[in-house]
Amino acid sequence: MRIDSINPALGADERGAGEAELAAYIADRMHDIGLDVDHWEPAPGRPNVVGVLSGDGDGRSLMWNAHTDTVGVEGMDAPFTPVRQNGRLYGRGAQDMKGSLAAQLIAARTLREFDTSLSGDVLVAAVADEEHKSIGTEALVDRYDADGAVVTEPTDLKLVRAHKGFVWIDLRTQGRAAHGSRPAEGIDANMHMGRVLSKLEALNRSLSSDEAHALVGPPSLHAGQLRGGDAPSVYAAECHLRMERRTVPGESAEDALEEVQTVLHELSEADDAFEAEAEIAFSRGTLKTPTDATVASATRAGLSRTLAPNNPPPDTGASFWTDAALLSAAGTETVVLGPKGAGLHTTEEWVDLASVAQLAEVLVHTARRYCA
Ligand SMILES: [Zn+2]
Repeated sequence: MRIDSINPALGADERGAGEAELAAYIADRMHDIGLDVDHWEPAPGRPNVVGVLSGDGDGRSLMWNAHTDTVGVEGMDAPFTPVRQNGRLYGRGAQDMKGSLAAQLIAARTLREFDTSLSGDVLVAAVADEEHKSIGTEALVDRYDADGAVVTEPTDLKLVRAHKGFVWIDLRTQGRAAHGSRPAEGIDANMHMGRVLSKLEALNRSLSSDEAHALVGPPSLHAGQLRGGDAPSVYAAECHLRMERRTVPGESAEDALEEVQTVLHELSEADDAFEAEAEIAFSRGTLKTPTDATVASATRAGLSRTLAPNNPPPDTGASFWTDAALLSAAGTETVVLGPKGAGLHTTEEWVDLASVAQLAEVLVHTARRYCA
């Protein structure tokens, strides 16, 4: 697909093209296949498209979900001129995730042409804005309520049923401004933030040695953005840190905040002049779908049938976040399964074309089981 669909909310300089042209293209393909097409805009110029293949009974409904937006193309010569070489397709969005959109359409066409016997609905969703604030899937879960979902983010054709969440926490240390020549009057908010950072570094070390979550590995934190002080000759009155804490299944955003507040409490116990506060700025939950969830069993069976009849690949977890967490939180049992490739968000992105075809086949087998 030679269509620019850079997320317009990303990047400071140039506004991305957005998802509208790609969404219109996908809606056309869905009409060609014979799906009932629902095309709406959760925000102006930011459309979602859902194609529905209606079942003829009251079987379980299954959604396939892929995002239409991509990240930016800085440093790429011809990001939207696909190059096919050695079974790979190169270009921005090839793996993340236009290859997956193609697989979903191929699978829908296959079901439409060869299956008349599905009892439940299959919903093919192409959503906006996953690379920024996920307004697409947030609007989708308000409008549709599928029993199960497969989010087709790239996973090298492994079944992912757990991934991490994240929390942005804003911390502020409070100092007192004074001229640099008057040390008795100043309180240095930047130095106080230094104490916080040193404690957070120790906390991060202890997190990484925690017993790792079986599927996603240990939690972590880092000091993403730091800003403090106005001038070299002035004691900094305030210092601000926006840190990120990556959470594992079982941890909430509030747990992460409490951990940070414990650090601040210890520091203020040790020094009356130390003053600081912390609050949650933004958070996204984790994904954890049980091994025996019906959507996991159906997808596993589809994978076995397509790839390794006697030796199904083991389930795995991912360290990155996806829209699967939003679907799961809305009550839809959800797994993640997508094609092979590399170079997401870099200047050399590619998808393995054979794995796109295999993904389509797995989706077909999964729907036949799940929506039977
Ligand atoms: Zn993606």
